Amino acid sequence: MTGTAGRSLRVAIVGGGVAGALLAWRTVRAPGGASVAVFTEGAGGRPDASRVSGGLVRGFEPTVAAAGPAAESLAEIRASDVLREWSGYRETGALYVLPGDAAVREPADIVDAYLPGSAEVVGRDKVAGAFPFRELPADCVAVLERYAGHISPHRLRTAALAAAAQAGVTVHEAPVDAVTRDPAVRTADGRTLRYDRVVVAAGAWTPALLARSGLPVAGLRTKQIQYSLCAAPLAGLGPFVDENSGLYGRPHEGGCFLLGLPSDRWGVDPDAVTADLALAERLADSARRVFGVTVAVEHTVASSDCYHDLAGLELRSLGPGLHTFTGGSGGAAKTVVGASRKAAAALLA
Ligand SMILES: Cc1cc2nc3c(=O)[nH]c(=O)nc-3n(C[C@H](O)[C@H](O)[C@H](O)COP(=O)(O)OP(=O)(O)OC[C@H]3O[C@@H](n4cnc5c(N)ncnc54)[C@H](O)[C@@H]3O)c2cc1C
Repeated sequence: MTGTAGRSLRVAIVGGGVAGALLAWRTVRAPGGASVAVFTEGAGGRPDASRVSGGLVRGFEPTVAAAGPAAESLAEIRASDVLREWSGYRETGALYVLPGDAAVREPADIVDAYLPGSAEVVGRDKVAGAFPFRELPADCVAVLERYAGHISPHRLRTAALAAAAQAGVTVHEAPVDAVTRDPAVRTADGRTLRYDRVVVAAGAWTPALLARSGLPVAGLRTKQIQYSLCAAPLAGLGPFVDENSGLYGRPHEGGCFLLGLPSDRWGVDPDAVTADLALAERLADSARRVFGVTVAVEHTVASSDCYHDLAGLELRSLGPGLHTFTGGSGGAAKTVVGASRKAAAALLA
């Protein structure tokens, strides 16, 4: 029981992506608990980021601020039979290559604090000797992680939502038209439902939902994310990021390689994202140059995510009782496990 006159706090979460699903599961299980409702768009819902995510998870990120949440989340997944099973975690290691002047030591130390023995800082020769790069800057530096790999965010959210429902969360297959400062949720079928806390966790749909609710969009915006499944002979290469070329990727099921380059399409409508074919062509050209192999794009996946000026999935206040839980900026698969625990605690505080 919590603050509101001895009754359980009533919490509404808008969105059943990996962020909303894990927040619901964390909130209903938190000490003191809460009565939780999740509003989703149902089984035939839109192909969201959680469904198509590459699911790369590692501890290392180039800044201390980003490495902490990523390493903490990964450590929790690895330590939990439940989370490993729910997320389909596959441990393959990871490689992160940076320009020579990058300050990698501090973030690598953070990885080591959460995942002892995982991170090793190496130079160009080690990368060139162990991985199939043909083009690497002479002074580049890299972080090799033993305890990293990939998850399925879609599988994780499906399992978390099922467990949340079993623990008493009500899942409404009812899209939300607007949220209000009461706080309340107005469903597309015209009902207005009041809660003690309303959290908008609608991923890339969040900015438009806030705008049509007459609420500040508060530094949130959308951006396209796109990768291609490629036929590419990249034996020996696991999950990687190469900041020098912008390429990232991992081996994919079915013998192909998932390869991506950052998109520059900001402000996209998440319902109208189309593949950027020029970007897919640039991707293939870069991969041919960097790895010196033939690369053929077989299929391109284009979607979007919600970005925040200070990147990171976290609970952000829009006023009393009204929050967002989004802004993962293309990386929330890495951080959602830890971020949802912190957000649930903050919500119930
Ligand atoms: C192509 C791609 C590749 C990625 N690869 C990686 C990666 O390798 N590693 C990594 O860490 N991260 C990656 N990410 C980022 C990560 O997957 C996302 O940050 C994460 O999935 C976002 O989850 P979410 O729940 O916030 O949003 P979403 O998964 O988009 O979920 C939002 C949900 O809200 C629902 N919704 C929207 N509007 C309403 C409404 N009005 N009412 C009710 N429900 C609503 C939608 O139907 C949807 O289910 C990738 C993202 C993309 C797009």
